[in-house]
Amino acid sequence: MAQQFGTFTASELYCPKCRSSQKVRERLLLVLPSGELYEFLCSRCGTSLGTRTVTGPAVAPAAARPPQPRPPRNRRLLR
Ligand SMILES: [Zn+2]
Repeated sequence: MAQQFGTFTASELYCPKCRSSQKVRERLLLVLPSGELYEFLCSRCGTSLGTRTVTGPAVAPAAARPPQPRPPRNRRLLR
């Protein structure tokens, strides 16, 4: 099965509490207008090991709007 780059997750991070690399769990913290904020938790002790923001086009579908060509009517006045 092909792995999508967009769903890439860090599988292991160094946990200072366990003092070794541990598998991490990803938890959705916040949904921002610019993306989604995830938190990495140690799967063993639950310590927060970091966050990452995932920006995706799914949040702001710019392509949903049909392109509207604007006539450059004021161009001459702006020079
Ligand atoms: Zn840990």
